[in-house]
Amino acid sequence: MRKFGFKVYSSNLYDAPELIKDCAKYASSVSDSFIELMIVPSCTTADLKKIKEQIGDVEVRIHAPHDSMGFDPGNKELEKQNKELVVLSQKAADFFNAKTIVVHAGLGHGMQHIDETVRQFKLFNDSRILVENLPYLDYGTTPMHGSTADEISYIMQGSGCGFCFDFSHAICAALTLNIAIDVQLKNFFNLKPTVYHMCDGDTNQANDLHMHFGAGNFPLSHFLNDFTDKDAYITIETSMGIEQDANPRIQDYLYLKSVQKA
Ligand SMILES: [Zn+2]
Repeated sequence: MRKFGFKVYSSNLYDAPELIKDCAKYASSVSDSFIELMIVPSCTTADLKKIKEQIGDVEVRIHAPHDSMGFDPGNKELEKQNKELVVLSQKAADFFNAKTIVVHAGLGHGMQHIDETVRQFKLFNDSRILVENLPYLDYGTTPMHGSTADEISYIMQGSGCGFCFDFSHAICAALTLNIAIDVQLKNFFNLKPTVYHMCDGDTNQANDLHMHFGAGNFPLSHFLNDFTDKDAYITIETSMGIEQDANPRIQDYLYLKSVQKA
C-alpha cells in the first residue's frame, strides 16, 4: 500500500501553531498516511517532545536541514557543520523511531564536489539515510549535483545510502540538461527509491514551484502509477512558504488517492 505524507517543519511549532496538530489529526484518521518532519537547525529536544505530543502514534519520517539552512556535503569546509546537522536529524529519527532520513546531495558541479558528497555521506554512516536528487541549477543560479540518475547512483554506490526521488527536482534538471522528462523519471525510478517527493508544477520551466495538485500541468496520475512503487512513501510537498491551514494538504492527499489506480 502506498502511503502519503504530510510535510511539516519543526519550526511550525512557532510559525504555524495549529498545522502539525491538524495534519496529525487527519493522518491518524486514515490508514495510509505519515508525517515527514523537516528538522530545522534550531530544533531542540523540548521541541521534539512538543511535536511528539501533537503527532501521537502517526508514523514519522525525517528530513535533514538542506542548503538554505547551511548544509552542503559537497563542501569540505562545511564538514563539521554538516555532521552536526545530520546528528541533530539522527537524534530526531531515534526519538520518533523513523526508518528514513532524507539528506540532500550537495552544491557544485564536477567530480570534486560529487566525490566530497560521497565521502561525507560515508562518514554519516547511517543506513537510514537516503540521498535526494536535486535540480541542476537551484532557481537558475546555484549549481547542484545529484541531478541525474547516474550521479545519484554514484553517490548511492559510493556511500551505501538509499534514495529519495523528488519528481519536481528531476523535471527541473531534465529541462536544464535537455533530457526527455520520461527518460529522466524512469532512470530515477530504476534506482528503487523508498521515499518520493511530489508536488505539481510547470513542465515548461525549470523552477521547483511546489504547487498544490491540479494547479500545474504535471501528469500526476502517470507519475504516481508508472513511477512509484506500490509500497512507496510519498511526501506531499505542495506548499511554498508557511501555510497555516492543513486543509489544502488534505485536499492534495485526496487528489493523489483519486488518481491512484488499484
Ligand atoms: Zn528535500
